[in-house]
Amino acid sequence: MPAMLEIHKLLDEQDKKNRYQQWKLAIPSIKNLEKTNFLFTEVDKCCERFLAPAILKLQRDEINQSFYYAARLVDQQDITATNDDSYEEDCAESPQATIDQLIEVSGCDNIKEIWGIEVGNSSKIKHYVVLLKNNAHICSCLLAIRKGIICRHYFQVMRIYSMHACAEI
Ligand SMILES: [Zn+2]
Repeated sequence: MPAMLEIHKLLDEQDKKNRYQQWKLAIPSIKNLEKTNFLFTEVDKCCERFLAPAILKLQRDEINQSFYYAARLVDQQDITATNDDSYEEDCAESPQATIDQLIEVSGCDNIKEIWGIEVGNSSKIKHYVVLLKNNAHICSCLLAIRKGIICRHYFQVMRIYSMHACAEI
């Protein structure tokens, strides 16, 4: 019965669309916000002064997305033991540096702190942010090198720093 088949097909398509919508809603993200979060208003002002609109938008997205991540200080010794398994699967999609490469590039003596970045409550470290003694930083996502903008992972680390600073006042 062709009409019946047609109806089934339409329902199927509708179902797929709904599932896609639900899937999209389940991914935490903030897009197209005009301004960044109030915690970074000073940074935002600077960005506004110096960045072209398209880059400014990308940078603001990164700042806003940082709120979905968690960062914790990690010990350099723990890293070498736990790091081996996580990189294989991710490498193909977008180039990333391993923590070993970051340490090698930075030079052990120049490293101030290493932060592990987790997505939401997954507790599996996805990225590493290495803070250097000269106040520079490098993140394993390499966004600063690839696109010239500061990544969400670094902003998450800065957010923790600012919370500590507020607590001490
Ligand atoms: Zn990053």
